[in-house]
Amino acid sequence: MQPRIRDFIPMYILVFSAAIVLTLHTNRTVTVMSSHPRSGTTIILDAGHGGEDGGAVSCTGVEEAKINLQITLRLNDLLHLLGYNTKMLRTDDTDLHTEGTTISQRKNSDLRQRVKQINETSDGILVSIHQNKFTDSRYSGAQVFWANTDNSKLLAEDLQRAFVSTVNPGSNRSAKQAKGIYIMEHIQCTGILVECGFLSNESEEALLLSDQYQKKLACVISTAICQHIAIRNLSA
Ligand SMILES: [Zn+2]
Repeated sequence: MQPRIRDFIPMYILVFSAAIVLTLHTNRTVTVMSSHPRSGTTIILDAGHGGEDGGAVSCTGVEEAKINLQITLRLNDLLHLLGYNTKMLRTDDTDLHTEGTTISQRKNSDLRQRVKQINETSDGILVSIHQNKFTDSRYSGAQVFWANTDNSKLLAEDLQRAFVSTVNPGSNRSAKQAKGIYIMEHIQCTGILVECGFLSNESEEALLLSDQYQKKLACVISTAICQHIAIRNLSA
């Protein structure tokens, strides 16, 4: 039997309350340690890019890597507060490369290291955070991409629906399979890549840089992940 939305109302209340606690107590992120993990699952948080790879550059000159890290840190705090195990692949402005003399070699090494850390995590769920950019500044809205692994499509579609019903009302974006993205094509666990919005759209860029919007994104993403884990545990 499919779990119904009302089965998860307590979870929404919990995530919302946790978000309020974080909002009231700090404008920046805090690390909240939980000694009672809610499940054996580890949520692997990948802040895209970092170090010498800044990723896309926004219309006011902010590097994507910085925004990815800010949102990922907020997500980590919220998930910890809710009692979940998390593993951040980077916690500052660095990358994970271990070898390489050229930028391209170091980038490849960085991606291989991320995949290695993801694949050596047992019962993991990958959430990779990125920002989008396009030549036409009209485009906006979050979009979720799934890896070709168990449950990834389901999680991506649930999160995409959650974005449309919260931060992106009226958006007609749909979740898609990640193609040509090294990490997403080499992981073995459930995994999604979240393009939180467009750095090429002036008003969305301003939102993506704001504390409040980053908290909203963290709240929506956390809720979808918690719901996904709960459904998985129910049907296990
Ligand atoms: Zn990116």
